[in-house]
Amino acid sequence: MAATPESPAAATTRRKAGRHRGEGQWAVGHFTPLNGNEQFKKDDDGLNVRTRIETIYSKAGFDSIDPNDLRGRMRWWGLYTQRKPGIDGGKTAILEPEELDDKYFMLRVRIDGGRLTTEQLRVIGEISQEFARGTADLTDRQNVQYHWIRIEDVPEIWQRLEAVGLSTTEACGDTPRVILGSPVAGIAEDEIIDGTPVIEEIQRRIIGNPAFSNLPRKFKSAVSGSPLLDVAHEINDISFVGVEHPEHGPGFDVWVGGGLSTNPKLGVRLGAWVSREEAADVYEGVISIFRDYGYRRLRTRARLKFLVADWGTEKFRQVLEDEYLKRKLTDGPAPAQPGQQWRDHVGVHRQKDGRYYVGFAPRVGRVDGTTLTKIAELAAQHGSGRLRTTAEQKMIVLDIDESQVDSLVSGLESLDLRVKPSPFRRGTMACTGIEFCKLAIVETKGRGASLIDELERRLPEFDEPITININGCPNACARIQVADIGLKGQLVLDDDGNQVEGYQVHLGGALGLEAGFGRKVRGLKVTADELPDYVERVVRNFQEQRTEGERFAQ
Ligand code: SF4
Repeated sequence: MAATPESPAAATTRRKAGRHRGEGQWAVGHFTPLNGNEQFKKDDDGLNVRTRIETIYSKAGFDSIDPNDLRGRMRWWGLYTQRKPGIDGGKTAILEPEELDDKYFMLRVRIDGGRLTTEQLRVIGEISQEFARGTADLTDRQNVQYHWIRIEDVPEIWQRLEAVGLSTTEACGDTPRVILGSPVAGIAEDEIIDGTPVIEEIQRRIIGNPAFSNLPRKFKSAVSGSPLLDVAHEINDISFVGVEHPEHGPGFDVWVGGGLSTNPKLGVRLGAWVSREEAADVYEGVISIFRDYGYRRLRTRARLKFLVADWGTEKFRQVLEDEYLKRKLTDGPAPAQPGQQWRDHVGVHRQKDGRYYVGFAPRVGRVDGTTLTKIAELAAQHGSGRLRTTAEQKMIVLDIDESQVDSLVSGLESLDLRVKPSPFRRGTMACTGIEFCKLAIVETKGRGASLIDELERRLPEFDEPITININGCPNACARIQVADIGLKGQLVLDDDGNQVEGYQVHLGGALGLEAGFGRKVRGLKVTADELPDYVERVVRNFQEQRTEGERFAQ
C-alpha cells in the first residue's frame, strides 16, 4: 500500500516538534539525552570508570569491560581501544566498531603546558619499555601517547605516573583536555607574560572536577605569553594570548571558538584583556557557557565553535560577563604579528637568566621509550632537570650553561634528534594514522618519516620555513587545514584504476596573524607512492617562480 502523503498541517506540527527538541542545550531546559553519547554520560559520569578499571576490568580482563565504558567512558582516563592490526583503510567506514577494536589500548598522558622534569620523563620512558612495547609518540598537543597497553597494567601505570605528578585524567573524552602552554614560559628573553600560574590554577579548579566532566564535546585550551604565538591559539576552544595593554600592562587577549576537524573555524577575539589573576575566572566562565549552552543533539555540531558562530562575539562576551562573571571585562589590544615563522623553539636560544634552552626535532613526533630515557639522562647531566614538549611534536631541554651546550647538542644528535634539522624534518607533522587509529584510512607516521628523508636527499639546498601536515582521515589531528601543504588521507585511484592509499591536497594554509585555511586543490589527489615527487615539484616550482622576498608560506 502506498504511504499517505503528509498533510501541510502535519508537516508543520512535526517541524515544530523537531524545534522543540532543540539542540540539547541544558541552559534552555533540554536535558533529555538526544543521542547515545549523551545517554551514557547521563547514566554515569565518565570519571567514575576509574574505580571499575581498578577493581573489575584490570582483574577480569578485556572481555569483562562494559561496552559503554569501553567505547565511551574510558576516554575520561585517556584510554582508547586501538585498531586491530591488518585491517585496511577501505574497511574503516564499513566495519562495526567492535570489529575494528584490538584488545589493546592507546593511553594518553596529559602534560599541561608541556612541562616535564627529567624524573617524569624517565618514568614515561620506563612505562613505554615495560608496558607499551617501547611506543611513545609526542603529539601536537604536548602529550605523550602509548600504544599496546593492556587493561591489566593500567592501575600500575597510573600509580607510577601519579607518583611523579603526571596523570591521564581527562586526556580524552568530552572534557577539558590538556592545557597547551608556551614551551618557553618563564624563561624566554622576549616573553610578554608567563602563563604558568594560569595553567596551574585552571588545573587545580577544573581538571577532574565533576562539575566540568560532562561537556557537549572536547574542550581545548591554550595559554601563551610568547610573542611567537607558539600554541596554535587560533584553533582552540579558548586561548589566552599574551599582550601588553597600554594602561594595565602585560596580560592576555581572549580568543574563543577555534577548531579544525571537518568543519574548521578559526578562533575569534572577544576584544577583552584579562590579567593573570583573572584568566582562570574567564576560563571557568567560558567552559561553563559551553557546558550549559553548548549543542548536545548532534556530535558534529557540539563543539564550542558552532555556538560562537551562531551567537557572534558580542553576545558571547555579554553572556560571559552578565551571567557568569557578573562584571564587565576590560577592552584590550590584539597580539602583534610575530617576527618569525617558526614557532617550535628548535635550535639553541638564550634564556632571560643567561643560560640556554635547546629545542630538537625527532621525525613526526615519533620517539620510543629507550630514547625518552636517554633524553632524560642527557637533560639531567647538562641542565637543571627541566624539559618541555611543544605543540609541534618537538621537545626542549631548559637551563643549559653555555659551556654545556655543545655537549648536549652532540648527545641529542647522536640519538638522531636534530637541533639543526632540515626544514622538512622541522616542518612535517603526522597524526597516528592506520597503524593504531580506528578512524584512519591511510598510513601517516612511517610515510611522513620517509617523505622527510626523501626530501632531504632531493632538495638539500632548500632552507625556508615550510609546513607539511599529514592526516590519516578527514579529521584534523595533524592540522592539515593550516599547513602550507596539507595532506588528507583517503583512498584514491592509481594509473591502473586500482584503489590505493593516497591524499587529497590542500595548499596555502597558515597559522599566525595571517591565519587561514588551505585551498582544497580540486581534483588534486596524489597516491602515497607519488607523494615525494609531488612535494618536490611544488617546492621546485616555488623556488623558480618566487618573487623578491617571498616566503614559501605566503
Ligand atoms: Fe586518527 Fe584521523 Fe586523527 Fe589521524 S586524523 S589520528 S587517522 S582520527
